[in-house]
Amino acid sequence: MKITGITVWAVDLPMARPYSLTGGRFHFERLDSTIVRLDTDEGLVGWGEGCPWGSTYLPAFARGVRAGVEELAPVVLGLDPRRIEVVYRAMERAMPGHPYAKSPLDMACWDLASKAAGLPLCDMLGGRTEGRVRLHTSVPSGSVSEIMTEIDIVREQGYSFHSVKVGGDPTGDIERMRAVDAEMARGEELTFDANRGWLPAEAVAALNATSDLRRVIEQPCNDLDQHLQVRRLVSQPLAVDESLHTLRDMLRIIETDACEVIGLKLCRVGGLTVARRLRDLCTEAGIQMNIEDTGGTSLQATAAVHLAQATPEPIRRATWLCFDRLTRNPVEGGVVNVGGWATAPDEPGIGAHPDEAALGEPVAVYTLEG
Ligand code: MG
Repeated sequence: MKITGITVWAVDLPMARPYSLTGGRFHFERLDSTIVRLDTDEGLVGWGEGCPWGSTYLPAFARGVRAGVEELAPVVLGLDPRRIEVVYRAMERAMPGHPYAKSPLDMACWDLASKAAGLPLCDMLGGRTEGRVRLHTSVPSGSVSEIMTEIDIVREQGYSFHSVKVGGDPTGDIERMRAVDAEMARGEELTFDANRGWLPAEAVAALNATSDLRRVIEQPCNDLDQHLQVRRLVSQPLAVDESLHTLRDMLRIIETDACEVIGLKLCRVGGLTVARRLRDLCTEAGIQMNIEDTGGTSLQATAAVHLAQATPEPIRRATWLCFDRLTRNPVEGGVVNVGGWATAPDEPGIGAHPDEAALGEPVAVYTLEG
């Protein structure tokens, strides 16, 4: 099988409610996603998506995905999408770094390889495990009443696991954390995610004042060095999210006993191929994973749920469905939120199908013939 064409769409995804992080960082109302379709000489098509969470969350931006796909297209065309590691090495050789631009192409290769094998993606990633995948929410920063208004909306959608944004003024954060924690019902779970927002001293102050809550605190500081300073001085469980990009980062996280939980986001690490390796390292090390992506439609979310579905509990912790807070999802099939849980589809491939009529005109088409 040979990849003969790559078609690229830019997709505008408005949010149902605006989103912002503490201190006015990353305020936005829509996402800019890139969907790719790979055509093959055997008639099978594969779909992939790359959607950064705005431009300021990570070293990634939406137009960069499309520029990266343009750069990689001549390398990927002509290759056999079932030889996924061969395709990945070719992309690495052609363009080191830029993991988020590789992720949609890699995802489409996995979709094709699974369709060619006649298996759902989760069975290509280790095999479907028992049970459903737990979902968690992403609750934007705000006052306690704004946070609780958002939590009430997502409770109505069945969610019982919330990631609440902190990482601003530590005194205000301590009050917010205590107040929100007190509002949790039996069976509800809560993580506080600082999204790199605290200096080490601020993180130590906020965490030591709330250690009795025993909640996981995610990405307290800007980088792993600062995280490790904090780690030595606090007692509650920690998560690393934005600071995990490569396998070498993961080895350092394990060696330094940096955390109990990681955020494994497909786009950030370079797609399913690298995420699968990280998943296996974490499984060996006993580190729980939130397996998800940085944004996008239900195509991107379904791919992430497949990896989670192929990862046993309790090592898989939760998954986030970005599209549940969008007003537009031009994709048929794929995962849905059922009372705060999701199950990977049974059909061959990812099992989520972008509606080409709804996507509109492609922004680029690359073909083997040129
Ligand atoms: Mg996070």
